[in-house]
Amino acid sequence: MSGVALILAGHGSHISASTAGVVWDCVDRLRQLGVADEITACFWKEPPAFSQALNMVEADDVVVVPLFTARGYFAQQALPSEMGLGGPLTRIGKRRIHLTPTIGEHRILDAIVDERLRDAINRFNLAAAESAVAVIGHGTRRNRQSRDTARQQAERLRAANWFDEVVAVYLDDDPPIPSVYQSTRSPNIIALPYFLADGSHVGIDLPRALGISGSATVGRVNGRAVYYCAPVGTDESICDVALALARDTGLPFESQAVDGAWACFPSAGRRLLSKALDAGRILTLGQVNVSRERVWHSDARAGSRKFGSPASLRRHLREQPFRPLPTSVDMPGDWQVECEKTDDAHAVVETVYPGVVADWAANCQGRLTTESLETVARRQQGMFRGIQNLAKAALMETFDRVCGGCIRQPTWREDLAANDAALPCRSACNVWLSAALEMGESL
Ligand code: SF4
Repeated sequence: MSGVALILAGHGSHISASTAGVVWDCVDRLRQLGVADEITACFWKEPPAFSQALNMVEADDVVVVPLFTARGYFAQQALPSEMGLGGPLTRIGKRRIHLTPTIGEHRILDAIVDERLRDAINRFNLAAAESAVAVIGHGTRRNRQSRDTARQQAERLRAANWFDEVVAVYLDDDPPIPSVYQSTRSPNIIALPYFLADGSHVGIDLPRALGISGSATVGRVNGRAVYYCAPVGTDESICDVALALARDTGLPFESQAVDGAWACFPSAGRRLLSKALDAGRILTLGQVNVSRERVWHSDARAGSRKFGSPASLRRHLREQPFRPLPTSVDMPGDWQVECEKTDDAHAVVETVYPGVVADWAANCQGRLTTESLETVARRQQGMFRGIQNLAKAALMETFDRVCGGCIRQPTWREDLAANDAALPCRSACNVWLSAALEMGESL
């Protein structure tokens, strides 16, 4: 297949729906603009994983845009390592994989930062000459370049002579967030999270480090007034930044009319699924039944709630309560989607279980490749590095607890054969890896 695929790579979270939600919102918008043949997302902490994303698309040209606000550990190390990329352009067989800079490095972010600060000034009637700005980055000691984008924003604002004082502070590096109370003296502090999403860092960790309540936009600390802005990434322009970065590769990414709400999904496995559905079969994939005309939860009753768009269905299934593992068996039950065409049925399954159809089809065709735990552990550079040293008891307990509550079968286990599995799993997911580490500590 020729064509172009666009993959947005984000962090994801095990505790906050909005971290990956921002990325999925952007995917939904770009699909409706029809800017590429296949558009999807992948994540560090949620499925589909970075390592799985290239298996989901079939296009010869694939553009990967890191939706991170800093180049650093995830964009420079974890993402290329997990996807097998060697730089801005990697050839894998006949495919060309383009890896763009992060969204946090794009100039459009300057305008978003300025807009957030202008909003704070107007909303709280502040004088810039009596206000300090704290640009808050994540940072990490594993990669000093993680500090760069927040630092550069602080330098830009300082050079503009707009505010009395401007500093960059970091959640996980120096100078730390509370240092703002020593490094500035203005009566007002405008705290701007240089973060993508309204997730747990923005909602919990940053306010805690600032000493203000998590739900407050205004606080008083050490006799100073603190005004807490929304993170830069919640702005709709982030989607435009992603598109601009994709276009910078030289590929067109032009808007085109799309055929309905379920267009531009990743296509690996679609032909096999469609063939079965067009032959009149009703397939059961995990907790979901699929026919050519309808996709529904196997517990759905007549009159169950109908969904008509990927965004509404995804929100229903993953946000109330938050389910970081889309294939966990606790999926809300009472829903259905009516489909105009077979491809729509595939797109609904892909919305419910991202990446599962690609692996199902590969397994049916006898070409599924799996990755051992040792292989996954070997390419880790961060916290998961020690996973291969865990005791067997911890691994087995994690299989029981995590994989036991999942509709997939961990065929990456050496003692399980892929062809015995209805819905195989290529490699240990991040939810499993995190749980195994915790298990190793508790046993
Ligand atoms: S089978 Fe296990 S490792 Fe695979 S997705 Fe499910 S929980 Fe994760």
